[in-house]
Amino acid sequence: AKGAGKNGYSFFEQSMNTNARNQLQLLHDLRQALDAGELELHYQPKFAAADAQRVIGAEALLRWQHPRRGLLMPDQFIALAEKTGLIIPIGNWVLNEACRQMSRWYAEGRDDWRVAVNLSALQFCHAGLIDSVRHALERHALPANCLTLEITETTAMQDADASLAILRKLAEMGVDLSIDDFGTGYSSLLYLKRLPANELKIDRGFVRDLEHDSDDAAIISAIVALGQALDLRIVAEGVETESQQAFLTGLGCDSLQGFLFGKPMPAEQFMVGVEALA
Ligand code: C2E
Ligand code: CA
Ligand code: CA
Ligand code: CA
Repeated sequence: AKGAGKNGYSFFEQSMNTNARNQLQLLHDLRQALDAGELELHYQPKFAAADAQRVIGAEALLRWQHPRRGLLMPDQFIALAEKTGLIIPIGNWVLNEACRQMSRWYAEGRDDWRVAVNLSALQFCHAGLIDSVRHALERHALPANCLTLEITETTAMQDADASLAILRKLAEMGVDLSIDDFGTGYSSLLYLKRLPANELKIDRGFVRDLEHDSDDAAIISAIVALGQALDLRIVAEGVETESQQAFLTGLGCDSLQGFLFGKPMPAEQFMVGVEALA
């Protein structure tokens, strides 16, 4: 065939095979990662916008310490976990581990902090979600409002009525709810008004070019106004520069998160940073 290599396969087919083999190997490794204790959570601090010295909590972000490939980031394995259903046991582990860490912080007097956990679409729709959340809270004797669940706007929009029912159950339990990557989906004002959410998280994509793109700045202003009108907390993520910080604080964002303040890091290192602020 045209473009075929020495062995009769085209380069395209060869690379497909390599890719498929890699994915298969990765899936095999991922199945064992949980039991082997290779997963870990890093924590990125969230700060009060009005007082950038004051930590108000952390977002738990998943990492995989792979025995041969080193530290893998979520974009290298979350999609695979989601496609194969492995995200359910992995997600339950994340919930439990984040609650364990938050209960330690709570016992150390950080009882006004919240730990935020990301939920994938599959996890959010999974019948076991409510029980998993209740279990994790009970197991670590953690008040429900110390746990924020972050659900992307796209996930919340997928099946609007079903999502509303799930969010209402979580809200009844007292869990804090955040709509992540806000501005990238297409939620209507009416839907947003019905959502029992506590927080809107402005997508990093808008924050990134804020200084150079007046459209992004305008969109952020609109999101902040919308959030305030609906009585939601507004968080901006991906804050990397002081001028972004100034702009977002000036608009009235409630909290900020980004490399300017701190990268995601293991809990011990996180606390070293927090103590250095005090
Ligand atoms: P996300 O929920 O939007 O998380 C924010 C991502 O932005 C994190 O990437 C974080 O490290 C990164 N980030 C934070 N501040 C900055 C900044 O100032 N600049 C830049 N360039 N990046 C910043 P990470 O840890 O690679 O996570 C990527 C995505 O993977 C997350 O996006 C989330 O969707 C997903 N994810 C992470 N942990 C979990 C988990 O436990 N479960 C599920 N289902 N998904 C997770
Ligand atoms: Ca998030
Ligand atoms: Ca986000
Ligand atoms: Ca994102």
